Amino acid sequence: MFFDYTEKTQNLIDKLQAFVDANILPVDREVHAWNADPANRWKPWPGLEPLKERAKAAGLWNLFLPEEYGEYSPGLTNLDYAPLAEIMGRNMWSAEVFNCSAPDTGNMEVFAKFGTAAQKKEWLLPLLAGEIRSAYLMTEPDHACSDATNVRTEIRSDGNDYVINGKKWWISGVMDPRCKVLLLMGQTNPENPRHTQQSTVIIPRDAPGVKVIRAQTVFGDVHSPGGHCEVHLKDVRIPKENIILGEGRGFEIAQGRLGPGRIHHCMRSIGSAQRALELMCQRVTERKTFGRMLSDRSSIRMEIAKSYCDIEQARLLTLKAADAIDRYGARNAKDLIGAIKVVAPKMAQTVADRAIQIFGGMGVSDDVPLAEILATQRFIRLADGPDEVHASQLGKFKIAQYAKPGAGWNNISET
Ligand SMILES: Cc1cc2nc3c(=O)[nH]c(=O)nc-3n(C[C@H](O)[C@H](O)[C@H](O)COP(=O)(O)OP(=O)(O)OC[C@H]3O[C@@H](n4cnc5c(N)ncnc54)[C@H](O)[C@@H]3O)c2cc1C
Repeated sequence: MFFDYTEKTQNLIDKLQAFVDANILPVDREVHAWNADPANRWKPWPGLEPLKERAKAAGLWNLFLPEEYGEYSPGLTNLDYAPLAEIMGRNMWSAEVFNCSAPDTGNMEVFAKFGTAAQKKEWLLPLLAGEIRSAYLMTEPDHACSDATNVRTEIRSDGNDYVINGKKWWISGVMDPRCKVLLLMGQTNPENPRHTQQSTVIIPRDAPGVKVIRAQTVFGDVHSPGGHCEVHLKDVRIPKENIILGEGRGFEIAQGRLGPGRIHHCMRSIGSAQRALELMCQRVTERKTFGRMLSDRSSIRMEIAKSYCDIEQARLLTLKAADAIDRYGARNAKDLIGAIKVVAPKMAQTVADRAIQIFGGMGVSDDVPLAEILATQRFIRLADGPDEVHASQLGKFKIAQYAKPGAGWNNISET
């Protein structure tokens, strides 16, 4: 077992890090100030598109799309991508510069994996080029959507069309003026067995009947320019060719969409935690209380050591999950994907919390990115399925794997 990155990955790490140092860190505060200013609400920072062009020219583009996607992929494995996503995760807005940000990444995978030639031409190519953005509409205010089979938005057949009626909320990215396409999960066949009632359809963002009702806040912030919004659909009409894969395949698509996508979030969480650790290490060498530097206090060193251990464990688990997806496919790697989805955001939340405490009052301010990291990691524990749902599934798999009918508890060590 070797734990070093390959030469190819290491070269990409160096190239990406150099790009981030030269182009992203110098404008980090400017971008935050732009996004936080209510006068700029729902307007992307003007420097973003030129920066994207620079990243594209440097070959740092669509790195998330694994090599199995052939012509659309830059040819990286999930394992190659993991440390690159970690670098992007050190900063909350930078993944978009490389066309590697949610929800577009998951949506591009859906189009690439399941789309028809016409759907790919119309939507995948402009998404891959970074010319448009997208949103994914699954969660509903009136139904508990951590169980995706509860999705009830109606997709009714009407001649050559589908007509859609329902309510969605927490729809990320829908306010971005570049958002041109929505992937919606709704119910086509309520009489079917539980896992084949739902379907996924493509809706142009400007289709009549798509109405944004309100922007929702995450700990008081609307997350401009994309936002997270309640969206109502009233008699939205789309042609039948806008269905993906066919009726009753929506649950399957949702599962596929969130496989590698889930670990992308985890990789970025590790980058956020690593940044928090580095910031706290720096800070403790600069502050003195009661006659001694913070760095000399054993309780402080303990917090730093625990954070290092937590990050290193989560990083190794993420890399193992990425490697398992590459070797055996997302379906066969589901235990490791579930495990890291439960571990990584919670770990990063804990590390950010420790860093905030060590920074004192400054920790909760916008002068350092710790409060933002904490808030982000907290909501990631809900997005893409809450911790409990992943843990429940994982527990079920493990019981099925380890329990042997008829075997006593004292035989378990022999398995
Ligand atoms: C910032 C943000 C962005 C989001 N972006 C999107 C998006 O772009 N598109 C989209 O469709 N959705 C999005 N979501 C929604 C997110 O995916 C859902 O909130 C999540 O799936 C949970 O669904 P729910 O809110 O309906 O919770 P519910 O299903 O009502 O569940 C509530 C709680 O019950 C508990 N629970 C559920 N099942 C179990 C179980 N088996 N065992 C024990 N406890 C359990 C969990 O603690 C869970 O949090 C976003 C959410 C947030 C906060």
